[in-house]
Amino acid sequence: MLLTLTTWREPASDLGFLLHKHPDRVQSFSLPFGEAVVFYPEATEERCSATLLLEIDPVGLVRRAPGDRARSLFDYVNDRPYAASSFVSVAIARVFASALRGVCDARPELALTAIPLSAELPAVPALGGESVVRRLFEPLGYTVEVSALELDSRFPEWGSDRHVSLRLSGVVRLSQLLTHLYVLLPVLDDDKHYWVSEDEIAKLLRHGEGWLSSHPERELITRRYLKHQRSLWRDALAQLEDLDIEESADADAPVAEDALEETVRLQDQRLGSVVSVLKAAGARRVLDLGCGSGQLIELLVRDGSFEEIVGADISMRSLGEAARRLRLDRLPEAKRERVRLLQSALTYRDTRLAGYDAAVLVEVVEHLDPARLVSLEQNVFGSAQPRTVVVTTPNADYNVRWETLPAGEFRHPDHRFEWTREQLGAWAAGVRDRFGYAVRFLPVGPVDPDVGSPTQMAVFSR
Ligand code: SAH
Repeated sequence: MLLTLTTWREPASDLGFLLHKHPDRVQSFSLPFGEAVVFYPEATEERCSATLLLEIDPVGLVRRAPGDRARSLFDYVNDRPYAASSFVSVAIARVFASALRGVCDARPELALTAIPLSAELPAVPALGGESVVRRLFEPLGYTVEVSALELDSRFPEWGSDRHVSLRLSGVVRLSQLLTHLYVLLPVLDDDKHYWVSEDEIAKLLRHGEGWLSSHPERELITRRYLKHQRSLWRDALAQLEDLDIEESADADAPVAEDALEETVRLQDQRLGSVVSVLKAAGARRVLDLGCGSGQLIELLVRDGSFEEIVGADISMRSLGEAARRLRLDRLPEAKRERVRLLQSALTYRDTRLAGYDAAVLVEVVEHLDPARLVSLEQNVFGSAQPRTVVVTTPNADYNVRWETLPAGEFRHPDHRFEWTREQLGAWAAGVRDRFGYAVRFLPVGPVDPDVGSPTQMAVFSR
């Protein structure tokens, strides 16, 4: 089993300091299940790679295992010596303990700096294959190169099994990369491994700090990491949720957008327009995609014509706010039954979103990377396919009318783009043609003869 870490941040050989392993030496470490060796296949100023080679002794492993259960051939002959499973995590924790914690006496500032790094693993057991690998690592910002391994390249008809080769790259702190591998390799493997006890919850929460509570697959991660033991993963998820809500308390300070919009109370007009459009379309079962803190849901619940309202958002923090705004725990039974909140990443196909009359995306698309819009389109228009889809987004043409908005700036720091009317029109026409919808456009807010309305709305129907 091999894990190779590479950096090309100059001087690249500083990787030796970060890992606390000298590039000129080959070092070995004895572990309970075999031996680990660290060596540097390449160590120049421009590029430096450190490899962790793990020799697992399957026979010793069986001999040392507790209990006197009858052994099968499978205990002796399996993929453990060759594939990156939970043993790699144990090895990372033992061999790279300080680097995992982000401690580096020789280069303390470097340990805190995001640097270009890659991790290569030629064989990783991945239950669920490539798609699970992507779902786990892409939300963390890695570029993921993954390919299924054929069982034997001489016999392509044998096909591939659940092993993949994997290369992750990104600009991250070394301790983050090691932490992500430490938690996620056993999750990918989803096979029996050493740890399943209550202190694993604490360990998971500790290593998951700062990224797990907002990861779209946190439930899968938690469940697999804690080996599907219901009581354990329920508990861990509940704790993660609390963490996420706590973290939100001081984040999300009011930003310029709020001040800007106060004058026209644009948000009220926006939500009012959305409700009218939904009623006119006869929608009864509605998805609020990217529901944020649930302002629209609140209006929809009040209106008796909506039978089922589902709010979905990627952010647990927002969903927590929505639950509080809606007082879900105190809502009378009849109302509560009509509302559900889901954590979902809109750029991944989510079959739970199928079968609704309408979906709305209020001020959401502009928060996505333009390159990810295609995945959102496929999920919403291609897979969920509601009869009506309402999209609202800022009208960039109007920005010149905001007195407090410096020229060329977006209305919100998290916006990835703001479309002119023409740009929304072009995007909507593409969606219309690709997915067989009709589209019309409506202004929201006071219409200026030159630059249109502050918010623009596209209503798709099929
Ligand atoms: N619709 C709400 C919130 C708009 S803010 C309102 O009008 O008040 C944008 C929301 O989109 C945020 O809550 C954010 O968490 C959510 N979001 C951004 N990217 C997302 C994604 N990929 N999947 C799901 N939700 C996303």
